[in-house]
Amino acid sequence: MSRKHTEPPEASCQQLTIADSNIGQVSICPECSVLHLALSHVSLRFTPDAFRSLADIVTAAQSRLDHVAQTSAAAAAALAIDTARQGPKLH
Ligand SMILES: [Zn+2]
Repeated sequence: MSRKHTEPPEASCQQLTIADSNIGQVSICPECSVLHLALSHVSLRFTPDAFRSLADIVTAAQSRLDHVAQTSAAAAAALAIDTARQGPKLH
């Protein structure tokens, strides 16, 4: 970091929106490269490296969720197939 703002971000940083969606937006300050992640009631500031780390951890978590969803869907499908093969239960 070659430059750091000492004032509150609202007072010192420009915010150029680089992505937005229904849950919030990401903007960057062209002067100090701080990234601002704004959600409905919170706003977080990141250095570019920290923002990349955030993106990585969120992606990793989502990937794990997707994997779990796939695995449990596959398990449910396998169970349904087994049940169908065994026919109706007698009790
Ligand atoms: Zn700034």
